[in-house]
Amino acid sequence: MWTATKPHYTIFTNMRASQSTMWAVVFGATALTALPQRRVVSLIIEGGTVVTVDREHRIFSPGSVAIDGNEIVDVDASHAIAERYQPSRVIDAREQIVLPGLVNTHTHAPMVMYRGLADDLTLMEWLEEYIFPAEAATVSPAFVRTGTRLALVEMIESGTTTYADMYYFEEEVAAVTKAAGVRGVLGQTIIQFPVADASTPAEGLARAERFIKAFKNDELIVPAVAPHAMYTLDAATLSASADLGRRYGVPVLIHLAETQDEARTSRARHGLSPTGYLESIGFWGPETIAAHGVWVDDYDVRVLRGHDVGVSHNPESNMKLASGAAPVARYLAAGVALGLGTDGAASNNDLDLFEAMRQAAFLAKHEAGDPTAMPARVALELATIGGARALNLDSLIGSLEPGKRADLIAVSTDRARHVPLYDPVSHLVYVVHGDDVQSVVVNGKVLMHDRSLQTLDRGAVLAEARRLAEQVRASIR
Ligand SMILES: [Zn+2]
Repeated sequence: MWTATKPHYTIFTNMRASQSTMWAVVFGATALTALPQRRVVSLIIEGGTVVTVDREHRIFSPGSVAIDGNEIVDVDASHAIAERYQPSRVIDAREQIVLPGLVNTHTHAPMVMYRGLADDLTLMEWLEEYIFPAEAATVSPAFVRTGTRLALVEMIESGTTTYADMYYFEEEVAAVTKAAGVRGVLGQTIIQFPVADASTPAEGLARAERFIKAFKNDELIVPAVAPHAMYTLDAATLSASADLGRRYGVPVLIHLAETQDEARTSRARHGLSPTGYLESIGFWGPETIAAHGVWVDDYDVRVLRGHDVGVSHNPESNMKLASGAAPVARYLAAGVALGLGTDGAASNNDLDLFEAMRQAAFLAKHEAGDPTAMPARVALELATIGGARALNLDSLIGSLEPGKRADLIAVSTDRARHVPLYDPVSHLVYVVHGDDVQSVVVNGKVLMHDRSLQTLDRGAVLAEARRLAEQVRASIR
């Protein structure tokens, strides 16, 4: 009987859920009782090319991922998964590439509302003449909710399942993110000058502490404190921010050495690089995550490595603002935990991490004058397990392995530019766009299936954002 039913297994793995139901009906209970005992699981992503991004760089084709609750229970060849598990739900991923959800290690989600508001300016001109005034006139809890929802639609639709954020009213960002089912390391911004949610840094710190207490131990949200940068905060506030993070065991997010001007000013004022200055006040620790890290020397890289600081590389923002190219090869050689970020949509101008992967690889090659400088495999790792490591979440996410949280995406390969497909990793980095993402699962929950969002009302979110954009436009007239 076993040998007789075995071939049906193989066929079973290649069928859609609806067809498998028919199969059960057609063959009835007799065939089913003959099957060996299979573990019931909540979801199987079935029949795709599964790029695990695990230590052995394993790829299963056709492969399946078995998920129960919020956890990956198995990743294997499709026939092996079908033999071991009985799913409550199946997502057909044939002709698709299945990979870990992408990890965006640096953004400012609500800033999607400033997308394209002002381009082609230096960082300081752009910040001081457009972004800071627009923020002063428009940032509110409602603005943050609307902007974050728009950002979440864009992130889910382009395969980002975890993002690190730095903004104001971060409790609003967190509430909206949690409701959408996305994972976030969300940092309440601390800045020296009066802003929408705090008139002093002390107020900002108190707000951050309340936020941390409200979301500590949440399933999806990791609350964090986000001192803006060493050039927008005094030493006392920088130290107080780091202390707050340490006291609660939460991440501390900061912008670091983004422009040459920042590095020059730091040396003139403190006789130290931005990294060295923060080292001198005891800021760094394994809970700290530095965005950009463009203008760093060998000493700085040693400091960051020595404290196990996570670094977020933002190639598109750095190129658009002509900030320079972060020394990615030096970071990787030193063993620094390096991830990829898009930065806010006002300086990118989108949140598509597939594009960030491709640009990271191109920029590294261009800078080094060496096409081997960043192979596709490394770029893919930066956007997945590398980002997870930078955010201290690599025990939970970043690769498809049993025991990790079920955060994964399935990408279509049926467009003309996907053909032919010899190497799925090459395609993921050099060909795939965010729009190719078909299905998204976070923490075992399906957030998008066949391009259909399950937790956000796409039309309503876009309409609300368009209405809000009128207010933003009026604010800079
Ligand atoms: Zn930023």
